[in-house]
Amino acid sequence: MDGGDSVTNQSINTSRRQLFTRRQNSEYPHLPWAKQAQFTDLCTQCAKCIPSCPEHIIQPGDGGFPTINFQKGECIFCYQCAQACPESLFYAQEEPVWTAKAIINDSCIAKQNVECRSCGDMCDTQAIRFKLAVGTVAQPNIITDDCTGCGACVSVCPTNAIQIKLT
Ligand code: SF4
Ligand code: SF4
Ligand code: SF4
Repeated sequence: MDGGDSVTNQSINTSRRQLFTRRQNSEYPHLPWAKQAQFTDLCTQCAKCIPSCPEHIIQPGDGGFPTINFQKGECIFCYQCAQACPESLFYAQEEPVWTAKAIINDSCIAKQNVECRSCGDMCDTQAIRFKLAVGTVAQPNIITDDCTGCGACVSVCPTNAIQIKLT
């Protein structure tokens, strides 16, 4: 094997390793009902799911694989992306949607004692409860059992403090 082959093999191994690492560490959901762990193996990047979404929230993401941009809207769990997909990438509609939940980080302005309840106002399942606290404004608290991971709370947050992550 000459030096060129060795470099080529090394690059391939590195990119495979990166892909593997990305897949294993992926905290973010791809699409609802999708087999998250096998997504990058089974998805051919045909992009048929993208125009199928009535909410227009699916876009090419990391490595070209489709992902949801919750800044553009919420998932209404219509299952149309799954129906548009020609691969065996999605579970049946009767199965659980996903384990995605909203997570609030430290940039929430309530943590800086500024009154804000925008996320709670958007949540249909009332999964965001505001706890009164002494000496500070009410703080948001996600009741994970009630959170569907729909992402309706994401785009209304003035400081982008909410992310939808797999749990
Ligand atoms: S389930 Fe419906 S709303 Fe949600 S990402 Fe798929 S097509 Fe869009
Ligand atoms: S992701 Fe949906 S269900 Fe969960 S807290 Fe946000 S709005 Fe509520
Ligand atoms: S919308 Fe954002 S800043 Fe406002 S309470 Fe919710 S997480 Fe905090």
